[in-house]
Amino acid sequence: MKVIKLREGKERSLLRRHPWVFEGSIAKGKADFGETVRVESAGGDFLCWAAYSPSSSIKVRAWSWDETERVDEAFFARRIAAALAYRERLAVDSNGVRLIHGEADGLPGLIVDRYDDLLVAQFLAAGTEKWKGVIADALLAATGLTRLYERSDSGVRQLEGLTPVKGWVRGEGNTEVILTESSWKLSLDVAEGHKTGYYLDQRDNRREFAQWVRRLGAQSVLNCYSYTGGFSIAALAGGATDVTSVDSSGPALARATRHVELNGFNPDHHRALDADVNATLRGFLKEGRQFDAIVLDPPKFAPSAAHADRASRAYKDINRLGLKLLKPGGLLCTYSCSGGVGPELFHKIVAGAGMDAFVDAYIVDRVGAAADHPQTLCFPEGEYLKGLLVMRR
Ligand code: SAH
Repeated sequence: MKVIKLREGKERSLLRRHPWVFEGSIAKGKADFGETVRVESAGGDFLCWAAYSPSSSIKVRAWSWDETERVDEAFFARRIAAALAYRERLAVDSNGVRLIHGEADGLPGLIVDRYDDLLVAQFLAAGTEKWKGVIADALLAATGLTRLYERSDSGVRQLEGLTPVKGWVRGEGNTEVILTESSWKLSLDVAEGHKTGYYLDQRDNRREFAQWVRRLGAQSVLNCYSYTGGFSIAALAGGATDVTSVDSSGPALARATRHVELNGFNPDHHRALDADVNATLRGFLKEGRQFDAIVLDPPKFAPSAAHADRASRAYKDINRLGLKLLKPGGLLCTYSCSGGVGPELFHKIVAGAGMDAFVDAYIVDRVGAAADHPQTLCFPEGEYLKGLLVMRR
């Protein structure tokens, strides 16, 4: 077993059970791609068992802090069983559930979503890549399912020196799935959709949006960055009669249009706009349009804290426009999935947007990702999605 020895004082974050060790913290030691290593303090004390990533600046990702534990087939079976047990207790009201959420489930670099009878996984780090076959078999054994599709076509794999991969790992067949969420039907294609196919993390927020639309009697709704129209279906379910989905992806919008009919809503109540959100918001402002409710759910503007400044300006801009386009008493549901922009900064950005727009608003809720995308006390980086629901005064 190869040993990775840390520099003096660099054991602190591992002792707090934070699972990453950066290149600069390592005094000596090297290992092969994804190899299990023993990480020790400068004084030679055991810290954790970990996977080694030769190409990444995150050189080490911890598997276990228990010196007696072995990283083998049984280890992965245990971690997967624990993650599944947590989801069972959540009793998620959908056949689309995130089963494994990386570090928060003790499996750094692994994402697994279940879409009905189909599993979709992302293997994003050297450790999970190396154990892919074992993990795949353990996932099928634990869920009783037979099919696992891989969507490791994410940019972060480059940091590990890995190329994008996409395709069946176990089983084969149709990649289309119909999800049920809040009694709505939503279709997706795990081979073609964004990420693993859908944005399960917004599940609770879509449901809450439907409730607000109903409560406020909102009729005109603008859903920006709509993807396949999840928030638009929520708006229609809440009783809205004039819903606009805006996205720059044609295929996503085509699906949004299909979802309106699939759920039995009046197609005349929905419009799909294949356009840039920023330009659309500016255009509506010029036309003097106003809405009862607006959703802003943009892609990640800041992949890391280093991009926070530019991202802040981009968030502020769309939020300023969104607030201006609200009728008095209207609701803005604004989200950020940038890990580099924390909840406090996001709040500040939206407050600044309000200042610039000369609009004040009541904060009616602050939200995050659904609980099947867990955050843990030891891994604050896990908090990425945050949302503010504000009502224009
Ligand atoms: N709210 C969605 C998820 C949104 S993901 C849901 O609940 O499912 C972000 C979306 O923004 C993607 O669909 C992407 O195609 C779209 N997008 C990215 N940049 C855009 C831009 N400049 N204008 C319009 N849409 C954009």
